[in-house]
Amino acid sequence: MRAPLTVIHARTLTLDDALPEVQAVLVGGGRVLAVGSADELRAQAPRAEVLDHRDLLLTPGLCDAHIHLVMYGASLGEVNLAGARSVAEVQAKVAQRTVTTPTGTWIRGGGFLLSELGLGDYPTAALLDEVSPHHPVILYSRDHHMTWVNSAALRAAGITDATADPEGGKIVHPLGCLLEGASDLVVAQLPSPTEAEWLAHAKAGADDLTSRGFVSAHTMAYEEPGAPRAVQTLAARGELPLRVWACLPHQRLEHARELGLALAPGGLFQWGGVKFFADGALGSRTAWLHAPGFADGSGTGIPLDPPELIVERGRQAIDLGLTPVTHAIGDRANTEVLDAYDQLRPAAEARGIRLRIEHAQHLRPQDIPRFRGLTASVQPIHLQADAPMIRTLLPHLEAGSYAFKSLQDAGAILALGSDAPVAPPDVRATFAAATTRLDDGGRRLTPGETISDLDVLRAYTRGPALAAGWNDEGIIRPGARAAFTLWDRLGATAQALVL
Ligand SMILES: [Zn+2]
Repeated sequence: MRAPLTVIHARTLTLDDALPEVQAVLVGGGRVLAVGSADELRAQAPRAEVLDHRDLLLTPGLCDAHIHLVMYGASLGEVNLAGARSVAEVQAKVAQRTVTTPTGTWIRGGGFLLSELGLGDYPTAALLDEVSPHHPVILYSRDHHMTWVNSAALRAAGITDATADPEGGKIVHPLGCLLEGASDLVVAQLPSPTEAEWLAHAKAGADDLTSRGFVSAHTMAYEEPGAPRAVQTLAARGELPLRVWACLPHQRLEHARELGLALAPGGLFQWGGVKFFADGALGSRTAWLHAPGFADGSGTGIPLDPPELIVERGRQAIDLGLTPVTHAIGDRANTEVLDAYDQLRPAAEARGIRLRIEHAQHLRPQDIPRFRGLTASVQPIHLQADAPMIRTLLPHLEAGSYAFKSLQDAGAILALGSDAPVAPPDVRATFAAATTRLDDGGRRLTPGETISDLDVLRAYTRGPALAAGWNDEGIIRPGARAAFTLWDRLGATAQALVL
């Protein structure tokens, strides 16, 4: 049992302009009570327990502002293809998994990128059949906008050369890859996790984040209902180590009231956003683009939720006190969402809700000032693999890609995330990507868009808090949640400290 009062003695960056750096923080009842010098605070609370971290740096606690928390937890037990550099490497990893998996049981994996596999075209089912003829296999691309499956998986889903493309998706021929909604044909065949498995996945994801120094997370929709329910259950049982702000898919908005929008009994889970998808992604060439589109001639991408729908349901979301949250990668998708948000702004401002765009990845210069007052939820770590693709597929949009500095200067609130399991929630790599903009090939993507360590810290703590409407987080001042990150130095090794 902790003493009722604690003094943390550490070099402290508060992110409070009134008092940016202090020596110590007094904490009690899960809240910051005072900040100041160590002597002052010890005099104020002589019986407090003292945590001596004088050799460390204390900051507001990290928040991953875009993660699929339960999917990420599940992915920790799947075939990990992140960084795979050839089809042979994928085959070897799948082959290895077949040895320990009962015949007929699904093998799942993810994290590959066509460009990193050295592929100019979509891979076929036959390549996976070579190593897994008896286990159905489904592998997600790193951006989760396509899957690569084998023949056993296609058979299970009843997909043949004659199957028509489903709405919002595309079946690639020769068979093997499914784009966007077409993946659902196979995903629908996967056995649903049991309640115990959902809970285990949620706990694994949350524990992993905590071990990396995070104290909160924004978990995006795009998961089955069992996923957020598991997080809610953990919160209610007092077993959730993080504060979680969750998004509901817009399709379930009608049920929002029944879901209990208020804080769960544990107090750490909150429904906060309603999620829309304006388009696909870069690597799958499904991002929605203005002309001229992809430089390889593969078109202008795939629009998903129509802007009129975003306006209509966005308005309903705001009425319920929920934040519209829209995925937009391509320049056209961003323009369309900004247009839709122009119509939602008055209602959102009246409710104190900050409209939010996820990724905001490739922007026309004229759209950047339109982000003023919005949340730009961005994932610096993705630029490491995307930069080479941007140079070949979107050379005309290079200047407005991952334009963190310009967005910040335009008055957007930056909120950093990983989009795990798309990329690992790697704090060090996120700092490095945002402050150096070095890609995997050692080249810099538009170095003028570099932001400072302190900007990164703010966008990784206070930015997400403001996006979620959590005025008591991401800052160290009296009344704030006592949730911190301790560092050996900023952007290096981080550990969570929640009192
Ligand atoms: Zn995502």
